[in-house]
Amino acid sequence: MKNIFLGAIAFTLLSCGAQQPKMIEDVNPMNYANSITSKELKEHLYIFASDDFEGRETGEPGQKKAAEYLKKEYKSLEIVSPIGGDDYYQEVPSSMFRGDVKNSENVLAYIPGSEKPNEILVISSHYDHVGMDDKGNVFNGADDDGSGTVAILEIAEAFAKARKDGFAPKRSILFLNVTGEEKGLIGSKYYTENPVFALSQTVANLNIDMIGRTDDAHKKK
Ligand SMILES: [Zn+2]
Repeated sequence: MKNIFLGAIAFTLLSCGAQQPKMIEDVNPMNYANSITSKELKEHLYIFASDDFEGRETGEPGQKKAAEYLKKEYKSLEIVSPIGGDDYYQEVPSSMFRGDVKNSENVLAYIPGSEKPNEILVISSHYDHVGMDDKGNVFNGADDDGSGTVAILEIAEAFAKARKDGFAPKRSILFLNVTGEEKGLIGSKYYTENPVFALSQTVANLNIDMIGRTDDAHKKK
């Protein structure tokens, strides 16, 4: 799993811009990619997919807890909201959903680009899951999509560290944690219809879902 993250981050950092007087040639992407560790991914995931988050069902208290967790992490990394101030939530109204779903929210955080700030790279995952059954058994959703969501936190950390050293990304990066995926891709639909940055400025979207599994080619060590 780590290799996937390191590869992605190294690839992306290669396109980083430089803020004077630092030059792009000075960047060793691995300095920052190495901040993505299996230990930290596990620490995040063991909280994010814990029973305490009650399976993160859209509109339910567990999902709200998960949203707060994401916001707190972005704030601690000093990654700002593109919405403004302390508001990291894009409200998704209950009218978007079929059936009895309370209001929910996408969580957004943003690193402005240094050279082409009007070009936006979106890195996204859904942070909701399917909640609990009638007996109170929690569907933890560690892989779906706790894995993609904590990966975004670690990617965000790497970019935040690079920026602190003067290597902000050339293009702006929007970390987009969407809600309501399990209800029919509702959070991503809502963002697409109500983008914070014009879709014409959005140059790419890397969406991450269920990367926690191993297969025959990637045996556990
Ligand atoms: Zn999923």
